[in-house]
Amino acid sequence: MTVLARLKNLAARSPWLYRINAGSCNGCDVELATTALIPRYDVERLGIQYCGSPRHADIVLITGPLTKHVLEAATRIYAEIPDPKVTVAVGVCPISGGIYRESYAVCAPIDQYFPVDVNIPGCPPRPPAIIEGVAKALEIWRQRL
Ligand code: SF4
Repeated sequence: MTVLARLKNLAARSPWLYRINAGSCNGCDVELATTALIPRYDVERLGIQYCGSPRHADIVLITGPLTKHVLEAATRIYAEIPDPKVTVAVGVCPISGGIYRESYAVCAPIDQYFPVDVNIPGCPPRPPAIIEGVAKALEIWRQRL
């Protein structure tokens, strides 16, 4: 089954995505915006949409290496997302710190702070890889309902 067919099946309950920028250079965030806005990838046609409040979210996408500057705010926002939530690390920065991993200002990898369910490697990952990662997150989310 193709990724799109899987997403159509999985999105029957219209999960909402929320994004936390944990110190990203914005490269990954631009790719996430592409999955929301560009007709070629638009995830809303699959019944999935980005939301503006962590309290409404089902799946959280975290970009960036988790800098010390945003750690407290990111932790507070993460706690506001209701369970069952699924956590996705987008890009190599949250997975390993990426090019920032030896910086004094970086806390990565984020799985030391948040329980990560899906990793999407890349710097930045391309939209098809992000959609594939969201499909995996949806499978996990449905198992937790
Ligand atoms: S993974 Fe690459 S594109 Fe994404 S935030 Fe890190 S440096 Fe930027």
